[in-house]
Amino acid sequence: MEEKSFCKGCLESVLVADDAINQMIQEAEQDDPSKLVADEIYFFRLEQCGNCPSLQYGTTCAHCGCLVRYRAKFKNKGCPSVETPRWNKVAHVENGKKEV
Ligand code: SF4
Repeated sequence: MEEKSFCKGCLESVLVADDAINQMIQEAEQDDPSKLVADEIYFFRLEQCGNCPSLQYGTTCAHCGCLVRYRAKFKNKGCPSVETPRWNKVAHVENGKKEV
């Protein structure tokens, strides 16, 4: 399945309904759950975004334009803030090489 855009610029409006975000998350879960973080990490990330001044419209990161509820699901995504990143990619270990 094709990965959806994380960016509000690719959607019809900057205001995105919960149903649309829920649908994107559901599709990601059905596509490849191994790409997604555990609930504990997900809720930690959302808490960080919820307390961040860069969160716009309650849904969107001002640094990257991503829908944070969607972006925060993925192991390979981190907080895009250069000055004060609030959450990181999940470390991945393959063939003894650690990737963060
Ligand atoms: S800067 Fe980081 S913590 Fe703040 S809204 Fe964007 S992703 Fe979330």
